[in-house]
Amino acid sequence: MKQTTSKEVTAEVYTSFVDTFFADSRSIVVGAGLQVVIVGSAWLDTGHPVYIVLIIAMLATAFLRLRQAEAYHRDRANRPPMDIDAQVRWATVWENRYMWLTGAATTQIGLYAFAALQVASSEYSIISSMIMVFGTFPTVVGRIYGSDRLAAVIVVTLMAPTAFGTVLRGDAAHILIAFLLIPYLLLVRTLVHDVRAAVLDAIQGRWKNQEIAERFDIALNNMSHGLIMFDGDLRVLVANKTARTLFEIPEHIDLEGRYFDAILRYGRARKVLSSRQVERLRRQLMPMILEGGANKRFVLNDGRHVEFKSNPRAFSGAVLTFEDITERINAEKQMVNMARYDALTGLPNRSYFATLIAERLKQKATNGDCMLVMLDVDDFKHVNDTLGHSQGDALLRAVANRLKDFHLRDILISRQGGDEFMIFIPDRPRDEPPGQIAELLRSTLTGVYTLSGEQVHVTVSVGLAASDRTSFDLTRMMVKADLALYRSKAQGKGVWSVFEESMDAEYKRRQMVKNELAKALDSDSLAVRYQPIVDAKTGKIVACEALSRWNHPELGDVSPAEYIPLAEEMGMIGKVSRSVLNRATLDCATWPEEVNISVNLSAIDFRRSRLLDEIDHAIRQSGISPRRLEIEVTESAVIANETEMLTVLRQIRERGIKVSLDDFGTGYSSLSYLHKLPLDKVKIDRSFVEGIESGQTPIALLRGVANLCRTLDLQVTIEGVSSDDQLNLVLATEGVSRIQGFALGPALPSQSILELARRTLLPVSPVRLMPKKPAAAS
Ligand code: C2E
Ligand code: CA
Ligand code: CA
Repeated sequence: MKQTTSKEVTAEVYTSFVDTFFADSRSIVVGAGLQVVIVGSAWLDTGHPVYIVLIIAMLATAFLRLRQAEAYHRDRANRPPMDIDAQVRWATVWENRYMWLTGAATTQIGLYAFAALQVASSEYSIISSMIMVFGTFPTVVGRIYGSDRLAAVIVVTLMAPTAFGTVLRGDAAHILIAFLLIPYLLLVRTLVHDVRAAVLDAIQGRWKNQEIAERFDIALNNMSHGLIMFDGDLRVLVANKTARTLFEIPEHIDLEGRYFDAILRYGRARKVLSSRQVERLRRQLMPMILEGGANKRFVLNDGRHVEFKSNPRAFSGAVLTFEDITERINAEKQMVNMARYDALTGLPNRSYFATLIAERLKQKATNGDCMLVMLDVDDFKHVNDTLGHSQGDALLRAVANRLKDFHLRDILISRQGGDEFMIFIPDRPRDEPPGQIAELLRSTLTGVYTLSGEQVHVTVSVGLAASDRTSFDLTRMMVKADLALYRSKAQGKGVWSVFEESMDAEYKRRQMVKNELAKALDSDSLAVRYQPIVDAKTGKIVACEALSRWNHPELGDVSPAEYIPLAEEMGMIGKVSRSVLNRATLDCATWPEEVNISVNLSAIDFRRSRLLDEIDHAIRQSGISPRRLEIEVTESAVIANETEMLTVLRQIRERGIKVSLDDFGTGYSSLSYLHKLPLDKVKIDRSFVEGIESGQTPIALLRGVANLCRTLDLQVTIEGVSSDDQLNLVLATEGVSRIQGFALGPALPSQSILELARRTLLPVSPVRLMPKKPAAAS
């Protein structure tokens, strides 16, 4: 931006004044010509030589003045750049030079008047000299007003000889005229001043305007908003750079006076706007520009969003401003997306899912049912724990992608959080059982996923609820689908279930059992019973498995298979384990030295920091040798938290306590676990025994597993041996060290164990204590 100071303005004005002195060489020539003619005529009239002298002097002066003007222009052209002071000095030099020659010229005119009055008078010479003198004054005012000094020199040189010549005439009339010249001189002086002031004002005003205009231009062109000012005919008065950029109008095209329509046509020519957009802008924007009204948004061809706003001006015309709001729109969109979609999978989240369902249900309904599916990745925590959270995330994304690929039909998918997904199926063909889609979902999602090179086998549990479209209630349906999912998980995962009314009853039962269980645990009213584990060779009890028992005054006997998972869900399993550990070790202390005690621990127990303290406490309190304590853990507990499990199991074994892997063969039955875990014994699940007597289950399976465990140096216990036939078959199986089951005895009070311990429970026939009715037994 150009900096201006008053000093600079004055200097600039001064130099330009000086410049005007030399501006017009023609007037010198014309002036000299006139002088020669006028003075020449006086010479012809009077014949006096003084006029010839004057003419020569006048011509010589005119010649010099012309040369001076040339010299000035040359000098100005070659003038090096100067600061303000130097400029002023330079101009002063030229002013002085000008003054001398101009002074000479005016002196000659004054002298002409003097000669006409005193030397060679004639009527012609007097009148023509007066005309010349007074005719020169306007030049003073009109051209020399810039310089007071110059004006003074000219006035004095013109007037002094004239006045002197007049006074010398001697008569009163001439003396009066000479005196009258004084106010005339003053008038000229005032005129010079006034003209100069007016010119200076005008120049300074122009400077100011120019400065304001410059500032305005800078401000206008640096606005982020586009701005076009229109007159009442919608013709452009001003358009800023942003406005040009938006419509891609090149710099060199002057928009002033063009119609708005012309701008739109540019936009179309540059493909910023399509013909349709031009039409729309024309239709919607033109009336709005002059009348005002709400801001209007348009999307340009390249996807940019622009918001137009108009401020009609008071008398006519308007200022149209517009802004590229693409970023704001995108940010808004992103906010909406964040509020609506799950960041990890890009699926609608819980709340947006509800909105989508509501919208879907409003659309014209077909007469089919709709369905809600709840889906859960089994053992997701295992993936997270073993492969890390980023792989866990990758798995969730992969599952989401498989769901998205589920193009089977029009469905809505969402992630509810964690490893849970929900699917809404707006209409189900009447002839298709709900289980079909549940199975399709299950099988689509089940399988091997490759997570950065690592292959993970994944199963999912599915719960489904169906409902009439008209009576669909999301909250209720979610509860139902959740109950179905609960059933699937309870059934061992990787399966689907469709909601049935009985699940509601089961749910209520669970809630009630939970309430009662909390009370029972508070009053420590659970009992422990002991099921004998018998040595396959000696028939003697080598250990007893402590099994929790709960007899509720109204509910009767509640199976641990029912309440143990509930205690886990409630986070109260620690209480159960602690109490069983304490009682079992105390009871064990009353038994013969060779009878061990085997206690079940749940997966959650291994995450409790106090577990080892509690085990130590139980051993110390009962006084039994740690070698008599066995801990049973299931494979699924190991899988759920492998790393922690490994360390805790090691610490348990360091104490001399034995570790058994329970229910082997039900879960993953991963051989790698058998090898990796610090184990002493394996308990082969009763499903390997069930049906061996009838051949339903091949005995070879049992034999194989038993052999395998033995080769890994693990003691083998067969559980769930419930009949004599089974017992005989198991006894005949090589590698079996210990047997447990109703065939040898159910869970009994501690006292009974004390009695039984002395006897041999094998061979089967004479000593069997309990009948073959398992239900009554446990
Ligand atoms: P489990 O650890 O597999 O316990 C053995 C279960 O098999 C016991 O059921 C037992 O009564 C039953 N059983 C014994 N012999 C036979 C047989 O010949 N045939 C058949 N069909 N079943 C037989 P119970 O007592 O109902 O316990 C069920 C499950 O509850 C246990 O399975 C165990 O997982 C859990 N549980 C029981 N007590 C505790 C405990 O104190 N702590 C923990 N964490 N879990 C316990
Ligand atoms: Ca067990
Ligand atoms: Ca078991």
